[in-house]
Amino acid sequence: MIPRLKPYLGKEELLAALTPDRGAVERFEIDFARTFEAKYALAFSYGRSALWAFFKAMNIHDAEIIMPAYTCVVVAHAIVLSGNKPRFVDVSLSDYNMELDQVAEAINEKTGAIIATHLFGYPLDIDRLSEIVQNAENRLGKKIWIIQDCAHSFGAEWKGKLVCNAGDAALFGLNISKMMTSIFGGIITTNDEQVYEKLRIYRDTYFKKPGFIKTLRRLIYLMAVYPAFNEQIYGVVYWLQEKTTFLDRLTKAYHLDEKIHFPPDYMDRMLPIEARVGMVQLKKYPEIIKKRRETAIYYDQNISTSDGWVRPPIVEGATYSHYIVRVPDRQKVMQAMAKRGVQLGQLIEYSVPRMSVYEKYTKSLAYPLSASCSTNTINLPIHGHLSCLQIEKITKDVLCL
Ligand SMILES: *Cc1c(COP(=O)(O)O)cnc(C)c1O
Repeated sequence: MIPRLKPYLGKEELLAALTPDRGAVERFEIDFARTFEAKYALAFSYGRSALWAFFKAMNIHDAEIIMPAYTCVVVAHAIVLSGNKPRFVDVSLSDYNMELDQVAEAINEKTGAIIATHLFGYPLDIDRLSEIVQNAENRLGKKIWIIQDCAHSFGAEWKGKLVCNAGDAALFGLNISKMMTSIFGGIITTNDEQVYEKLRIYRDTYFKKPGFIKTLRRLIYLMAVYPAFNEQIYGVVYWLQEKTTFLDRLTKAYHLDEKIHFPPDYMDRMLPIEARVGMVQLKKYPEIIKKRRETAIYYDQNISTSDGWVRPPIVEGATYSHYIVRVPDRQKVMQAMAKRGVQLGQLIEYSVPRMSVYEKYTKSLAYPLSASCSTNTINLPIHGHLSCLQIEKITKDVLCL
């Protein structure tokens, strides 16, 4: 069975994981910053920890943080757990990003920051966002931070400019479901020396170095990832996933349980083993992105939009972390494709303001487009290990539905 995602790992990552190197985290930060043309990068145990630490280090609390209603829920968790409140904005059906008119309306004297998510790799209009924020700052006489959420959009560009370098900082997630991975892990990049210094001092003061056992656990997890996404046995993995909860920790990057919480090790530093895997992945980044762009274009030219299917846009500078299609009956499509040996994803299958723990932040506003995306979207496999034959097979299977 073809899995819905597959980390782009080879033997080099395993070899790097097994080769001790204590200075790896600092070197990974330097390589990461260089690759994405930022001045500074700081590594954390998770993307959510990095975002949480940013709010803490920059002393942002009791503030409203504007974020899309349709995004990964851990972003909202980081906002609440750092002592702030999410202020949701609905998304657009044309590229799944926040409606910027609604961002402008949502800004007020309590606004502390805006999370500018570039969902599924689609660049948000960073020029327009910065204009909106500048006008609001002048009007309100206060700083409003802009954090680019690039967890789906490593290297995405808006009009030829890397989106991660607009605004004050950019957030990247590096778990195995992301476009590139360091097993777990997250990174913040910035071009502002003061932000860098404050965040670095905060992290180095409060985040602990985990013990050896965690390195061993990460190594075992990494070794389990290779067979878990292998096509030959993925049928079994799929069955275990559907019928049991054994594999949740391996194949689901986060836990959706209607609770606002972080994993217990969120205040650990990134481990050298993670950084070493990350460094190998960074070298493969151009290859990863090139394949995704080619596959997206192939699907775009070969998948028909009859039967009410809505293909995702092809956008200059997008990175296609997922190939998102809106379909009339998600369950039916997923089951039919599974029968043909193709697993489809259903990320993101919720709208954050609709989750019971977030209802109190919604001020009875509806987020209809976010809600509709959460029930009508599927994503086709687009990972770097897909062969041309597999891409053709997926396309043919879709046409036969
Ligand atoms: C994955 C992700 C993050 C960060 O995730 P972690 O699992 O904490 O590393 C942030 N934003 C989005 C949109 C994501 O998909």
